[in-house]
Amino acid sequence: MGLYEGIKDVAKVLQQADNIPLYQQLLDLSTQALELQGEVARLKAENAELKRQKDIESKIQRHDEPIVTLIDSDVIYCAHCWDNEKKLIQVSTNEWNGQFVCPHCNFNGIYSRDINNEYLKRIAPRGPRIKII
Ligand SMILES: [Zn+2]
Repeated sequence: MGLYEGIKDVAKVLQQADNIPLYQQLLDLSTQALELQGEVARLKAENAELKRQKDIESKIQRHDEPIVTLIDSDVIYCAHCWDNEKKLIQVSTNEWNGQFVCPHCNFNGIYSRDINNEYLKRIAPRGPRIKII
C-alpha cells in the first residue's frame, strides 16, 4: 500500500467516525508527508547527478592544452566548460591548423601543438619575413 492510499483509507474511517479534529490532524500530516515525499524525490535526483559527475570526474584526463578528454576516448571537450559548469561540451576541431572552438562558450585555442607547428611551418616555411631597410 502506498502512502497516498493509506492516508485515504484512514481519512475515510475518521470521516465515518465523525472525528473532525483527528481528521484535520490527518490532513495536516498527509500534507507534510507529501512534501517529504517530494523532497526525497528531489534529493534522489540530486544524488544521482552527483554520482554521475563523480563518475565522469574519475575518467577526466587533463592536458597541457586547455582541453579535457575521457579515458579510452579521443573526443575532445572544452576545459573551460568543464571547469566552470561541469559540462562536457565537445569542441569543433580544425585538423588543418590544430585549433579548436567551443560551440557553447566560444572558448578557443590549440588542441594539438604538433599539428599547429606543422601549420605554422606551411604558412611561413622560411620563418618570419622581416624587411630590412
Ligand atoms: Zn566551452
